Amino acid sequence: MIFSGKFRDPELSPATGISCVIKQIKTTATMKQTYLTVVLLIFTAAGLTAQPEAPMEMQHQMTEVWDPEVPVVTPGESPREAPSDAIVLFDGEDLEREWTNSQGGKPGWMVENGCVTVVKGAGSILTKRVFEDVQLHIEWRTPSEVEGEGQGRGNSGIFLQERYEVQVLDSYDNRTYRNGQAASLYKQHAPEVNACKKPGEWQTYDIIYTAPRFNEDGTYFTPPTVTVLHNGVLVQNHAELRGPTVFIGIPEYSVERHGPGRIMLQDHNNPVSYRNIWVREL
Ligand code: MG
Repeated sequence: MIFSGKFRDPELSPATGISCVIKQIKTTATMKQTYLTVVLLIFTAAGLTAQPEAPMEMQHQMTEVWDPEVPVVTPGESPREAPSDAIVLFDGEDLEREWTNSQGGKPGWMVENGCVTVVKGAGSILTKRVFEDVQLHIEWRTPSEVEGEGQGRGNSGIFLQERYEVQVLDSYDNRTYRNGQAASLYKQHAPEVNACKKPGEWQTYDIIYTAPRFNEDGTYFTPPTVTVLHNGVLVQNHAELRGPTVFIGIPEYSVERHGPGRIMLQDHNNPVSYRNIWVREL
């Protein structure tokens, strides 16, 4: 007979119980059965007498991560100036080093007095480098002499990965559709507020851009997102784009898989100026 797993006398200690039962087993079971049964009983007895261990007490060191050490970057003297790990895309003098026209030739914009100005009809200019996720600092100025109205006044634009426009426009006392004014993500997101300075004054954009990730079928796995500070004021807060910027149409219909892309500055026939352009790859 094999021990059923219960002690006959509930008053027996586990050790005594084991001894008695072993005697009983010896008379009725094979040696192999006996060995297995004893092992089973020892574990059972240990289980009956074991006390649950107290959880380990947390120490402050357990949640401190030391490696790898965070890389050191030297910031600029002010937030306008490039930190040590930035790529300077325009330093006020040499445009050709980093920029081309849309055919890959010399950019036809005018460089003067530390800034570059759109030349009507010269076409948009693009970086030679391609980018994915970036932090972009760029300064822009619309003409002090106001001409035109709505979308015709100081219009240009900053296209991320050649597709996604952050609108540049003289939106100081100049109504247009809200999702097309300065700091809008053109025709997709109006800015939270209008932080425009007067025509002729320099303005800043600090843009944090996350490129889209794609599914196998070319749809967005995660859409592109854009955060914009306009003159230090948060105006786009991690806004999700529906697709590329389109003047006419539905952005979703124009989504297609793409890789890293250039930054493009738009020629919209207005003499908008740019300076102090730098980028950090994220
Ligand atoms: Mg534009």
